[in-house]
Amino acid sequence: MTKYVLPDLPYDYDALEPHISGRIMQLHHDKHHRAYVDGANQACEMLEQARDKGDLSKIAATEETLAFNLSGHVLHSLLWRNMTPNGGGAPTGKLAEAIERDFGDFKRFKQQMSKAAATCMGSGWAALMWDPVSARLLTIQIRDHQSQTIQGGVPLLVLDAWEHAYYLQYQNEKAKFFDAVWNVWNWTDVADRFERAQRFGLALEHVAELGAPAEVPPPGKRTQQQPAGRA
Ligand code: MN
Repeated sequence: MTKYVLPDLPYDYDALEPHISGRIMQLHHDKHHRAYVDGANQACEMLEQARDKGDLSKIAATEETLAFNLSGHVLHSLLWRNMTPNGGGAPTGKLAEAIERDFGDFKRFKQQMSKAAATCMGSGWAALMWDPVSARLLTIQIRDHQSQTIQGGVPLLVLDAWEHAYYLQYQNEKAKFFDAVWNVWNWTDVADRFERAQRFGLALEHVAELGAPAEVPPPGKRTQQQPAGRA
């Protein structure tokens, strides 16, 4: 049976300092992420045993366990790659154009993403997501690891808003963490996922008036909003 495994961090624990402490990264990766990997494997084993015994009476609880732990594994695996010691700044190219088209500009997107993270009730994430149905970027606020997501959406950039992601360093000042993390975003990785996500071809017909993500007009030629009272 397929086993989920904990991926190595693509950099040293302390490589993201001063923005994220090495101790946080060590615990976050080695303890928290590992627990989700183990939990996902255990849920799969429970399902296999249930099939063997012909007893699916506990399947609802097991599916919930699987969704929580596997989503935690996926999100953390994305997060490590979304960050880099040489990160920060702003994206360029097609991703930058799509952010401008779908959020207005990068600054507005940054504010929306950080606010989505800061206002998570309980534990959760904010994510920049590619919605293949409407062919546009959206932010989402994920509860725990798996709830309040949008079906079919592809997370491109994920921001962990669980207390374990920042509390050792930032304590109750989580807004400072959600600001600091913009210094380590790996826009090359996000742009790569963005490009691959668009190749899925998963748009559904007749469910949205599709835009044309590849044909974003240059900023100077975008349609300006007409002042009130003008045609
Ligand atoms: Mn986490």
